[in-house]
Amino acid sequence: MEKKCEVCSESVTNPICGECLSSAVRSWLRGRYSWLIPEVSAMNNNASAKGPYAECVICGSRIDLCSGCYYEEVQKLLYRADPNIAHEFSSFFNFEMQNLKLEKEVSKVVVV
Ligand SMILES: [Zn+2]
Ligand SMILES: [Zn+2]
Repeated sequence: MEKKCEVCSESVTNPICGECLSSAVRSWLRGRYSWLIPEVSAMNNNASAKGPYAECVICGSRIDLCSGCYYEEVQKLLYRADPNIAHEFSSFFNFEMQNLKLEKEVSKVVVV
């Protein structure tokens, strides 16, 4: 059965699990922003354990989020730590974010 992302409901194509994406993110953080590695490691990569799921093409783990949503989560985390790191992250991973939307969302989180 086709797997839809738990967050955005897009089909999960070229599935890579949070753990494998996380290790890519961690190797990018290593050196420059090593202090953020534990934060990224602590992220909850598994959305839920029900319904159909895709298997990671790298390690075979189950996947509930598409990589776009996973990166978005990482970027929010980095943005809260330092907006400059989040911008650097998105250009490095060539991942387009609507930064205005993100800024709005993050400031909402901060206010609450
Ligand atoms: Zn998604
Ligand atoms: Zn994996």
